[in-house]
Amino acid sequence: RTILAIETSCDDTCAAVVRDRRALSNVIHTQQEHRRYGGVVPEVASRAHLERLDGVVRTALREAGAELGDVDEVAVTVRPGLIGALLVGVAAAKGIACARRLPLAPVNHLEGHVAAAYLEDPGLEPPFVALVASGGHTVLYAVGKDRGMSLLGQTLDDAAGEALDKGARMLGLGFPGGPALQKAAAEGDDARYDFPVALRDGKNLNFSFSGLKTSLLYKIRGMSGEEVRAELPHLAASYQRAVVEALVSKLLRAAELRDASTLVMAGGVAANAVLRERLHKECKKRSLKLVIPSPRLCTDNAAMIGAAALSAEPLPYPHYLSLNARSV
Ligand code: ATP
Ligand code: FE
Repeated sequence: RTILAIETSCDDTCAAVVRDRRALSNVIHTQQEHRRYGGVVPEVASRAHLERLDGVVRTALREAGAELGDVDEVAVTVRPGLIGALLVGVAAAKGIACARRLPLAPVNHLEGHVAAAYLEDPGLEPPFVALVASGGHTVLYAVGKDRGMSLLGQTLDDAAGEALDKGARMLGLGFPGGPALQKAAAEGDDARYDFPVALRDGKNLNFSFSGLKTSLLYKIRGMSGEEVRAELPHLAASYQRAVVEALVSKLLRAAELRDASTLVMAGGVAANAVLRERLHKECKKRSLKLVIPSPRLCTDNAAMIGAAALSAEPLPYPHYLSLNARSV
């Protein structure tokens, strides 16, 4: 099956061609319009998707060496995300599918993040435990043999990526914060500051990052601007470590509780080098199989949406015409 996949849930305009757990192309256009606002502006995102999507789809087909006639199915993210942004992708997907009388698969963005692991390791089969940590979500799933996903835990307040983005902002680093923080932390001492890791112990599989954020705020309030600048690498490294600790400990705890031998770490935050290294080390120690998609497959992309569509029945033409996007 050759799938043309479209993803426009946030500020990346993405299209990909996926065949049998292989991405033949994976085009990502990251909108630069938001930089000067220091965060994604929904209306700006929708308009930018509208301007870019056609070209991005064409590029995805060309890079895959495919034409529309080679496509068997269209897949598109329908939720969750910015409603106006999602609608641009959904309308385009409907139009393309309709014109060719193709079936259309509506895909959940978070299931897409998990499905990126199938592209990374085509031999991967459930059951496994998966953690998605991204800009808007931090969710632990048990993925069953039938690929059904059940919720094991999630964040009670901020998402892990949000914590990194807000922390980076407080430290005067760029946007998006995750990569900026990672860079600033590279030479830092991650044990210099003791930032809290919430809900660490016990059987609780939920996360909380708002206390961590507040703790950084109080810490830098007590320092002069000069001090903050001098301590920047250590503050960044220590803060990043607290986020990594929370994610690593919960994923390992979930594997233990579910008696799982395979783990998946996905979502934009899984692009983080420190997190990747820590997890690989811990899983090796415990003889657990770990799949983390390559960084480009961790942050938003359309190949992961195509991968998620591989394990679902698409809606036949023209049953998807009434399909709608949803923000949650
Ligand atoms: P969601 O998937 O919840 O709808 P999103 O799609 O906006 O949110 P993703 O693209 O999946 O989010 O992930 C973006 C997040 O990942 C941002 O918070 C960003 O800071 C973080 N991130 C990206 N690269 C890194 C990195 N190298 N280290 C840490 N965090 C990172
Ligand atoms: Fe995402």
